[in-house]
Amino acid sequence: MIISITMNPSIDISYPLETLHLDTVNRVINVTKTAGGKGLNVTRVLHQSGADILASGLVGGHFGAFIQEKLSSEGICHHFFMIEGETRNCIAILHQGKQTEILEQGPSITNDEAKGFLSHFDQMIEQASMLTFSGSLPAGLPDDYYKDMIDLCHKKHKLVVLDCSGRALQNALKGQIKPLLIKPNREELAALLGRNVKNTITDLKEALMSPLFDGIEWVVVSLGADGVFAKHYDTFYQVKIPPIEVVNPVGSGDAMLAGLAQALDYKQSDEKVLKHGNVLGMLNAQEKVTGQVNMQNYRVLFDQIQIKKV
Ligand code: ATP
Repeated sequence: MIISITMNPSIDISYPLETLHLDTVNRVINVTKTAGGKGLNVTRVLHQSGADILASGLVGGHFGAFIQEKLSSEGICHHFFMIEGETRNCIAILHQGKQTEILEQGPSITNDEAKGFLSHFDQMIEQASMLTFSGSLPAGLPDDYYKDMIDLCHKKHKLVVLDCSGRALQNALKGQIKPLLIKPNREELAALLGRNVKNTITDLKEALMSPLFDGIEWVVVSLGADGVFAKHYDTFYQVKIPPIEVVNPVGSGDAMLAGLAQALDYKQSDEKVLKHGNVLGMLNAQEKVTGQVNMQNYRVLFDQIQIKKV
């Protein structure tokens, strides 16, 4: 079983508007509200691609209850740790081909809750063969919290696939025990290294040879429509994907992470791991709803992906 962790989930609210009028009233008809946050996108994609998945993390209040109800209604198992604070809302206003987002910071976690989750987590991971950690840490948790979670997983011989950015990522990489895989995009990689990274084999290779990544088995850099550049131990791969009609690429990185975790959990070959991840990323980009994949289109994309050792 794969356990997906979302420490700062949200109710993602989408407001489609013809035009966004400032400083006056805007009325919305087709509101959608989904259980959101990067980890829950991963969760839904894993569920749709047939994985045995359990969603966990922190939820609180009525909005936290809403998230759990939404997951249950989709047939997704979950085991969250309850906190005092209210789970956040994140609003995306879709107008004139643009997306204006209003993101709440979310609840602040107390010390007791931080400790409580670690013991909840420690018990829960017995059931897992693989874990995914996605997204930002909520206020109140120390920046090295993912590192502590990775250490607990290591003690029980559980593998972790990590997708976060900024200080949470920097701190997770400082630990002695490393995640199995990280999946930065090019901007996140650049931020990590403190320098611009060009989309060329030479520059990407040089970037991934940084001592920062020592001990991490897989570093997968997602490049949107340009596919992926990846390092597995000392082998570098360039993954080229076919052009596709894109509907909404938001969450494609999460869908890709789901695919990478699933294929690694099944102990697939490098080629299959990279292809499966890319196909799920592309399938998400072809859907209107974030964290949604239509598996009927899987094979045709899978067969068009080209992988080269470089
Ligand atoms: P997000 O933060 O929105 O989840 P990301 O920046 O982490 O995204 P991307 O690099 O944009 O991740 O996308 C991940 C993968 O999804 C890509 O490597 C590719 O396989 C697929 N993908 C994303 N955008 C496109 C696109 N425009 N055309 C084709 N495939 C895409």
